[in-house]
Order: sequence, then structure tokens, then C-alpha cells
Amino acid sequence: MTSINASADVARATERLRPVFGDRLLLPTHDRFASASRIWNCAITHRPVAIVRCLDNDDVRAAVLTARECDVPLSVCGGGHDWAGRALRDGGLVLDLSGMGQVAVDTGVGTATVGGGAHIGDVSGAARQHGLATPTGTVRTVGMAGLTLAGGYGPLCGRYGLAVDNLLRADVVLADGRLVTASPDGDAELFWALRGGGGNFGVVTSLMFRLHELPTVLAGMMLFPFAQAATVLAGYREIVATAADEATIMAGFLPNPDGPPLVFLCPMWSGADLAEGERLIAGLERLGNPVMSQIAATPYHDALSMFDGAMREGNHYRLRTRWLSHLSEAAAEELTDAAAQIASPYSAISMHHFHGAAARVGQTETAFGLRTDHLLVEIVGAWAPEDAEAGYGDWADQTSQRLAPLALPGGYPNLLGADEPERVPPSYGPNYERLVSAKRRYDPDNIFASAVPTLAV
Ligand SMILES: Cc1cc2nc3c(=O)[nH]c(=O)nc-3n(C[C@H](O)[C@H](O)[C@H](O)COP(=O)(O)OP(=O)(O)OC[C@H]3O[C@@H](n4cnc5c(N)ncnc54)[C@H](O)[C@@H]3O)c2cc1C
Repeated sequence: MTSINASADVARATERLRPVFGDRLLLPTHDRFASASRIWNCAITHRPVAIVRCLDNDDVRAAVLTARECDVPLSVCGGGHDWAGRALRDGGLVLDLSGMGQVAVDTGVGTATVGGGAHIGDVSGAARQHGLATPTGTVRTVGMAGLTLAGGYGPLCGRYGLAVDNLLRADVVLADGRLVTASPDGDAELFWALRGGGGNFGVVTSLMFRLHELPTVLAGMMLFPFAQAATVLAGYREIVATAADEATIMAGFLPNPDGPPLVFLCPMWSGADLAEGERLIAGLERLGNPVMSQIAATPYHDALSMFDGAMREGNHYRLRTRWLSHLSEAAAEELTDAAAQIASPYSAISMHHFHGAAARVGQTETAFGLRTDHLLVEIVGAWAPEDAEAGYGDWADQTSQRLAPLALPGGYPNLLGADEPERVPPSYGPNYERLVSAKRRYDPDNIFASAVPTLAV
């Protein structure tokens, strides 16, 4: 991704794109180019040569065909939150989908049709108006397509599965420019591959999701002193081992400007019986002496606001990830030791809880590779742009290495870096060969080489 394609004919590509895009074609000489090529992780230094702001299928098709015919590497930017910056390529053409963020809710059939550039918050916000929800990730500015295509962990995972388990169909512009609809009834192999294989098969211009009636959830955050980490994490282990589908509970460590990091638990109860949810919350609070506990019954979209700003845009980041089958005592100790070394005011560790409905989807039903109960560990090395890197990224690397002997093979494909291709095959387990066959069938020339995840084909 760092090499510039020597045969790229950027001038010809520009000539072809200008009549289609007009002032929606941005070049490096353009005033708006720097802001348009800014993504969440400001440590990324990839330098594209052009950005096209796509508004519909025809725009996407024109951009894909032009990039291909002029040999200009392309990349797709949805919400711009891939930490490894694969939305941008050196010397590349960026298909910016931010103008395709429309969401249409059909309350009659209970679906949301979502543009390829919509953010999580666009979807949860539109569904909220009807007392509905679909599984999403936590931070509302993350792209819904990018999140979904490689899985989509979130606080409704136990009740309704991953985001990808609620995908009903997708419109895709393929590498040869054809627009197809992938669903169980048409291009079923593509539909299988898209549900876990990320952006490797084409540009998804529209996604249809199943919606669920969910007017209110009981959710929030509790913080415990670092000294109570061992008991809180031991209690967490017990509680998640038998948690009802309606209870999905994140946990981890957050930086604390006043001292050692704080242990956090972040439960969401999505069941109709709020009293049962309150008992769960009370049990979690009793795991230690929380210094803060803020739990409320709110619509799902509003509950997600607790994650707004959780990882500051504009900072520099290096993320690493591991899958744990459960939080063993040894893993809890490794995580606690790693948290004790957090030196940056922004670095953090968090764990997503995978269970319930997500774990009942068959192993080969979708391309997503791990369908047994587990925890997804996110190790977030973060620092302000004005600070020297000062080892914050190395801390993430080292924590990941320390967890490796305790972890399952592979890792969450959406969070594996482009520098970890050897971890991709085990992430898909028995689905990997089929995924690679689908890649060869739908993108034989690897036009979508900078997709997440990085597939070596
Ligand atoms: C702050 C933060 C919070 C996160 N929280 C969660 C979470 O709760 N749960 C979770 O599972 N993950 C989470 N993630 C990971 C996130 O899901 C991935 O980084 C995802 O790839 C981001 O998608 P994006 O569109 O925002 O990013 P982009 O950088 O725009 O896109 C990343 C890649 O996704 C593909 N892509 C995006 N849109 C399309 C499209 N329309 N068609 C085809 N390909 C497309 C492309 O391959 C692109 O390179 C989080 C990441 C961050 C930074």
C-alpha cells in the first residue's frame, strides 16, 4: 500500500472523472483536499492523488472503471475509521462515500435501507424514531458498511447477533463495474462472502438491515478503582459465562488523569423485563466499590452517546486485537499488568462480549470466522499529535504479544492491521478457502487490494 503504481495514468483518469464529478473531484491542489483526505487516525500518512465524492451507483461505477482502466489504485472510504488507514492509498483514487449516508426505514416490513456511506448513528437515529433498532458497533461515527462487512460487534450482540447477522441484502458495484444485488436469492455466494469478508468484493452502495422492536435499553457505564481490578474481572468472568442473551457487557480499562487507569464495565440490557436488567446491574455494581455508575433506561441510539468522543478524532493510534475464549485468570492478569503501564492519557483496553444469538449462527453460514462464545480484546495505543510517539504504539504491540499464547488463533478481521496478513487465514478458520475462492471469482485482479481485511490472494 505504500508503493505508487508506476503505470498509473493519473492525468487520463482525471480527464475521465472531471465531466462525471465536476467539483466533486478533488485534487491535491484543491483547498478542500487536505480536509477531505483526513481520516480518524491522524497518524496515517498515505497520500492519495484524487478523491471523488460519490452520490450514487453511477458515480461509483464510473470511479471503479476509471481507476481500473487507468491503472490507478483505488480505495473506498466509508466512515474513515479503519485505524490502519486502508481508506487511503499512496498514489490512489479515493471513493469517498460520505455523500451516500441516506437511511430509509420501512416500518411495515421492519427493515432499514442504508447508503454505503452511512454512519452507525445515522442508522440507529433513524430506527429510534420508530422504537426500532438493529445491532451496530459502539461509536456512532464509525461507518455502518465497514463495520458490518467484517462482522460488527456491539451491545446487542447477545440478543440479535452481529451487525452482519442482520444484513438482508446488499447492492454492490463489482470490480468489472457491474451492479449486482447480493442476497440469499441472488448472487448468494457473494452474499455469503460479504458477510465477514469485508470490502474485498466490491463497493457496497446500499445495505438492507432487519430492524427489531426495541424502544428502550438499560445501559451505561460503571468505573472501579484500579486496585479492585482482580475482583471485578473475576466477577465479570463469572457473570458473562452465564449471561442471558439480553445482557451484553463490555469491560476494560480507561485512562485516568488523576492516577492509575480505571476498570470499566459497560452493560447493556435489551430485554423487556427491566427489573431483571436492574438485578444484573446491581450484581455488577457489587463486584467492587464503583467510583461512578451511570445507568439509565434510554432508546438504543441515545445509549450509544456514552461512547461519543471515547476515542478522540485527530489523535494518533495503533490498535491491536486478540480473541479470548474466556477471561482466564492469566489473561486478566496480563491485561491488568498492561493497563498498569498505560502512560498516555488516551490509551485504553476494551473487551467486546460475543455470545447468545451471535454464537448460534452456524460456523459456515456466513464468512465470519468465529462463532463460539468469546471476548474480543481491543488494545488501543493512542497519543496526541503534538506528542512524540513515546512508545504508546509499542505498548499496544507488546500487550498483543503477551496475550498471544492465551488467545485463540486469528483475530477480529476489522481490527487486524495491514502488517499482520498471517493472522487473516486463521481468523476465518474453515471459511478461509471459500472466502479466497470468492475473492478470485469477484475480484480476480485484486482491484480492492486495500480492503479491510487485507487478504493475500
Ligand atoms: C472509534 C472506533 C470504534 C469502533 N468500534 C467498533 C465496534 O464497536 N464494533 C466493531 O465491530 N468494530 C468497531 N470498530 C472497528 C470498525 O468497525 C472498523 O475499523 C471498520 O472497518 C470501520 O469502517 P469505516 O467505514 O468507518 O472505515 P473506513 O476506513 O472508511 O473503511 C474501512 C474499510 O471498510 C471497507 N468499506 C467501508 N465502506 C465500504 C463500502 N460501502 N463498500 C465496500 N467496502 C467498504 C473498505 O475496505 C475500507 O477500506 C471501531 C473502530 C473505531 C476507530
